[in-house]
Amino acid sequence: MSALTSPSAAASPILLAEEPRICSSETGTRPLKVGGITPFTTTDYPGRLAAVVFVQGCPWRCGYCHNPHLQSRTEDGPLAWESVLALLRRRVGLIDAVVFSGGEPTIDPALPDAIREVRALGYGVGLHTAGMYPRRLEEVLPLVDWVGMDIKATRQGYDTVTQVAGSARAAWDSAALVLASGVAHEFRTTAHPALHAPADILALAQTLSAMGVRHYALQIFRSVGCLDGELNSVATTSYPGADLITHLSALFERFVLRRA
Ligand code: SF4
Repeated sequence: MSALTSPSAAASPILLAEEPRICSSETGTRPLKVGGITPFTTTDYPGRLAAVVFVQGCPWRCGYCHNPHLQSRTEDGPLAWESVLALLRRRVGLIDAVVFSGGEPTIDPALPDAIREVRALGYGVGLHTAGMYPRRLEEVLPLVDWVGMDIKATRQGYDTVTQVAGSARAAWDSAALVLASGVAHEFRTTAHPALHAPADILALAQTLSAMGVRHYALQIFRSVGCLDGELNSVATTSYPGADLITHLSALFERFVLRRA
């Protein structure tokens, strides 16, 4: 079965790459580098039937990453962008939106053109981003209908999660850009007991609420796809506690707790 046409209804991507090589050069004219696609999902863009395009590449190394195969970029993406577009053309009328995810989609200079091509097919466009490229995010915000903004921790806790020094500034700048843009959003945090104490989650949520975030999701860590044995071995059953969830619910117009 072709990976491109696999009738997967799950949210996880179809991954085609072996351990990828680092790309030696990047140009603004080559097509989007796609590492996988989910042809149909009801969970990646709230309220919409969507396909998810997983863009290759991410400069961060979160221990809980569910898509570590997408962290590196190959010389050529495993899926040709033209093939992805052909699939999306065939699905017009069956789905109503396309979500660009990753990896980190804003890493790819071809993202704005790819979004325009998808919009030309009549689809709504969603974007999943962790916000490490604020200037590129600012460029694409006017082109998208909804943003899933991954906010990983308080400023103080950021580097522990991403394993990259200085990562907080870009992410929090991006968070402010999303809010200033007026684009519909969901901010979301993947929480793990070893990385996020309940008090840190509350502090993070209070900061987001004060900034103007209206929709927030707390996603309890799932081991699916995660390569970190230590993180995988920690139980999350009663984490982060009912009292905290009650507090979080009161901070946002819409709050969602997601568990596996
Ligand atoms: S930012 Fe996302 S894609 Fe990148 S390493 Fe972290 S979890 Fe994985």
